[in-house]
Amino acid sequence: MQLRAARLCVNCEEIHDAHACPACGSENFTYLTRWVPASRPQPQREPPRIVLPTLTQRIIFGSGLLGLAAFWFMRWSRRAKARVEASAVRSIGELR
Ligand SMILES: [Zn+2]
Repeated sequence: MQLRAARLCVNCEEIHDAHACPACGSENFTYLTRWVPASRPQPQREPPRIVLPTLTQRIIFGSGLLGLAAFWFMRWSRRAKARVEASAVRSIGELR
């Protein structure tokens, strides 16, 4: 007998799952789950999936960062070179 279906006869305290008490024939009952909570099987939680980037995504993202770093380095290098040349032409400034 399942706990959820178990009934307690209020006349003779018989526990049954029928419509009427098999001992005294009374139809007055209460469910046992009123006092004893029925445990439900807990659904197992699936661990969160970790989505790893594919090889293509890693290559694109990695080359994008490398390209950006190379771009900034080239820009900084060109500006620094221009400043050095301008300073040398003027014969004034930091290189003197
Ligand atoms: Zn009864």
